[in-house]
Amino acid sequence: MVQMGSLGEFELIERYFTRAGQALPARVRAGIGDDCALIAPRAGCDLAVSTDLLVEGRHFLPTVSAAALGHKALAVNLSDLAACGAEPLAFTLTLALPRADAAWLDAFSRGLFALADAHRIALVGGDTTKSVQPDGVSPGPHCIGITVLGDVPQGAALLRSGARPGDECWVSGTLGDARLALGHWRGEWHLSDAALQAVRPRMEQPAPRIALGMALRGVASSAIDVSDGLLGDLRHVLQRSGVGATLHADALPRSAVLQAQPVPTQRLCTLAGGDDYELLFTAPQAQHGAVLAAAQASGTPVACVGRITQATGVQLMDANGATIPDDFASFDHFR
Ligand code: ADP
Ligand code: MG
Repeated sequence: MVQMGSLGEFELIERYFTRAGQALPARVRAGIGDDCALIAPRAGCDLAVSTDLLVEGRHFLPTVSAAALGHKALAVNLSDLAACGAEPLAFTLTLALPRADAAWLDAFSRGLFALADAHRIALVGGDTTKSVQPDGVSPGPHCIGITVLGDVPQGAALLRSGARPGDECWVSGTLGDARLALGHWRGEWHLSDAALQAVRPRMEQPAPRIALGMALRGVASSAIDVSDGLLGDLRHVLQRSGVGATLHADALPRSAVLQAQPVPTQRLCTLAGGDDYELLFTAPQAQHGAVLAAAQASGTPVACVGRITQATGVQLMDANGATIPDDFASFDHFR
């Protein structure tokens, strides 16, 4: 038992993370409160498992609202399930907190459970500890670890390794708004109040593309979620698949706010931005119509932005078909 200020560890778990009134999904036989959660496997499915850790000062600023943080911590994990075409099932939550701050916990858990409820998934366990500096006394950073579990029919998961020469490259939604908002906070450029209001939710409250990922089973040949910037994430797919790509920089989908920025800013934000949580996926050309149908069925816009090539590496093209120098492609001062 770790005493965390006036609120004890178990009281904290009970008050903020155990939802007494709420029935667990049928397959969750036991949730919070025992040594293990018990979940019945779904016949014919593989269990998809993914973990992400958010550390204060590294992944988020001390000034971010706790509610937005609760949302984002779960959203980035759900985005990994989306990229595999998995259906979310349950999640665990590991917290290291400098103190048991009731207002912080209340807002954090509300942000977290609002997104969990939207995807009908249950919190089934976790661990909670105090975060301290190496002196054992001074408060340490907030650390939030989430592990999500999901189902995907055996053999149907979308993997990074499946892209083949001739496949089309697609992107969901729009890219670059999260980076545009971040640049404003960093003083790299200035956005009007209206522009900032429009792009800020993309940085703080990303929407994982679960429905699209599931609709792309059997249609896409590979997929990844764009978390570290389009070019970097595309390279992961290309490396795992042993192929290259031609990418049309000016065909990348972007918001009206981003389109109003200078072209170099647009390119930086769309190509090397990060925190987009859109899906980048490939599909054989014969599946072009099926991709559009999956997009429509899931209510998610998609754009065809390039093509997979046998020659390795990324060839970046502008709207006139001219090559954009590769040094821009590796522009990433922010990691
Ligand atoms: P153990 O001693 O077995 O590690 P704990 O005492 O740490 O168990 O936790 C008690 C119960 O509360 C367990 O069921 C655990 O999964 C759950 N739990 C602990 N922290 C959290 C949390 N942050 N969110 C959800 N469940 C939690
Ligand atoms: Mg424990």
